[in-house]
Amino acid sequence: QYILAIETSCDETAAAVIKDGTTIISNVVASQIESHKRFGGVVPEIASRHHVEQVTIVIEEALAQAQLQPSELTAVAITEGPGLVGALLIGINAAKAFAWAHQLPIVGVHHIAGHIYANALVQPMEFPLLALVVSGGHTELVYMKEHGHFELIGETRDDAAGEAYDKVARVLNLPYPGGPHIDRLAHEADEAVAFPRVWLEEDSYDFSFSGLKSAVINYKHNMDQRGEEIIAAHVAKGFQDSVVEVLTTKAVRAARAYNVKQVIAAGGVAANKGLRTALEQAFKQEGIPFYVPPLKLCTDNAAMIGAAGAKMYEAGVRGNMMMNGRPGMELKSWI
Ligand code: ATP
Ligand code: MG
Ligand code: FE
Repeated sequence: QYILAIETSCDETAAAVIKDGTTIISNVVASQIESHKRFGGVVPEIASRHHVEQVTIVIEEALAQAQLQPSELTAVAITEGPGLVGALLIGINAAKAFAWAHQLPIVGVHHIAGHIYANALVQPMEFPLLALVVSGGHTELVYMKEHGHFELIGETRDDAAGEAYDKVARVLNLPYPGGPHIDRLAHEADEAVAFPRVWLEEDSYDFSFSGLKSAVINYKHNMDQRGEEIIAAHVAKGFQDSVVEVLTTKAVRAARAYNVKQVIAAGGVAANKGLRTALEQAFKQEGIPFYVPPLKLCTDNAAMIGAAGAKMYEAGVRGNMMMNGRPGMELKSWI
């Protein structure tokens, strides 16, 4: 089974070929970060234009690297949502055109299911499983009884973890996207500014990061008022320590309560070194197997969409030529 996967939900134009849902044959990502950097974030209209220019190129490149003809493919998997509507539509229309031209079935994939299934490209997923999804737009704990089953047990009530990283990075005058820069600075620091941890209700698996973000902004403001220089590395470490401690503690509590066989991390913030180390140590202590994909599969890519699309295809899920971008699409079980 060969799946051609396409991903254009945000600011990377990506295509990949995945064999049997588990093996990457090719994985092409055209990043637009350079074009959005000077605006300090993703500009939707610019994103759409880049996708238009790049989408055919990355599809051809993915097929060329895989040394496959379209006729050898089983299906086309495409990110249906959530994401920027204009960006999603470019990928969906490219996928529909390709599927139509080569008479292939098409499968619409949820972007976050993709982030979770990036793990299937690294090791077999074992159920019941707990996924900690931490990305630019999402912070969630997802319980999975089996393939294609998703139960949202906790989510952020305000900012996503990645969003908080990017906003704090802005306060520190770091380039977009700020996550990797804060991560690097945090590791250089020998001291941390004390910032609060937001736990919410005692039994809650939800998250909240906007208070932490405000605490960082207030700290900078107060220091400015006093004419004192902030030390970016100490702020970065204080912020990261808070995010990592809350994410890790809640993931451990959920893994225990749901008695899972495996815990996985997914999404762009799962590329964070501090978080990876903390989760690895915590679950080692718990005696629960923990996995996180290599950095390249944590941030947006099409291989992960192919991995999820393959499982959906196997389960009989099919899209059609009426498919549209679904910017607010919810993560639903497909079984
Ligand atoms: P979503 O997946 O929720 O739709 P998205 O696709 O924009 O959002 P991703 O590409 O999964 O998000 O992740 C991007 C986010 O990951 C950015 O906010 C970025 O700052 C963050 N990020 C990337 N690397 C790191 C890192 N090393 N540490 C912390 N954050 C990171
Ligand atoms: Mg991105
Ligand atoms: Fe993403």
